[in-house]
Amino acid sequence: MFGGIEAGGTKFVCGVGTGPNDIHTAQFPTSAPEVTLPEVIGFFERVAGNLKAVGIGSFGPVDLDPASPGYGHITSTPKAGWANYDLAGTVRKALGVPVGFDTDVNAAILGEARWGAAKGLSDAVYLTIGTGIGGGAIVHERVVHGMVHPEMGHLRIPHDTARDPFPGVCPFHGDCLEGLACGPAIQARWGSPAGVLAPDHPAWELEAHYLALGLVNLTVTLSTQRILLGGGVMQQPHLFELIRKEFVHLLNGYVRHPSLLQGLDDFIRPPQLGNQAGILGALVLAERASRL
Ligand code: ADP
Ligand code: ZN
Repeated sequence: MFGGIEAGGTKFVCGVGTGPNDIHTAQFPTSAPEVTLPEVIGFFERVAGNLKAVGIGSFGPVDLDPASPGYGHITSTPKAGWANYDLAGTVRKALGVPVGFDTDVNAAILGEARWGAAKGLSDAVYLTIGTGIGGGAIVHERVVHGMVHPEMGHLRIPHDTARDPFPGVCPFHGDCLEGLACGPAIQARWGSPAGVLAPDHPAWELEAHYLALGLVNLTVTLSTQRILLGGGVMQQPHLFELIRKEFVHLLNGYVRHPSLLQGLDDFIRPPQLGNQAGILGALVLAERASRL
């Protein structure tokens, strides 16, 4: 039996099991760590007598360098109480089992690669478009970490201020991809939450334009085989077709591969595990930690 934690800015999802068929989950609101972590740990103590390991997919930024004294910590978040919090260490000490630790989106692509829409592929990207934009990539069957971890939401993309004078919401860059296209950017630009804008609202053409710019950059950089788009904003089903159309337009036939013909239905698509990608990926992180 493995344990998984998907640590998010609004809620912590906890699960025990070995995969999609037997996972049992519960969730707790993200308040102060001194409140949330005892609930999380209490859950595992109640439901699982013999946990082998726990995996954590966390909101970030996080320290993933095993050689660093800050390994397993959330680093510079503005979320009150969580900056420099030792998330992995707290769980390891309380439960006494090995703990695997990675970003929420790295967990999500791991889950999708094992059981979902990226199964059987050596290269795939998971991008979430929600309160922020974040991405995880598998390249040649390995999750990309590199120096820290990728920050695909902060791709710098062209911003035509005549078409869209909105300056963007990223506190670091203003009009990076996240600054222009995350859920809060849509709400700030148009004055209503993304979820209530009609499918024919001009917001969606612009949103598809920015997301397609990001996807083209990821495609020409990683030569990835598939891009999965999740998160609250992608709950708009019509957005997928707008993005695919704009992607084809922007790429302009330059990259040639059969999967980029025939409408891109498989190349740009939703995750298959729905909102369970992250928690299932956390089980994969646990399984890996148990083998170390
Ligand atoms: P988080 O990123 O905090 O984990 P979500 O992925 O649910 O959470 O993203 C929240 C964002 O998604 C909000 O900005 C919200 O406006 C937007 N959102 C939520 N539901 C929808 C919807 N049905 N259509 C479009 N946007 C949505
Ligand atoms: Zn940014």
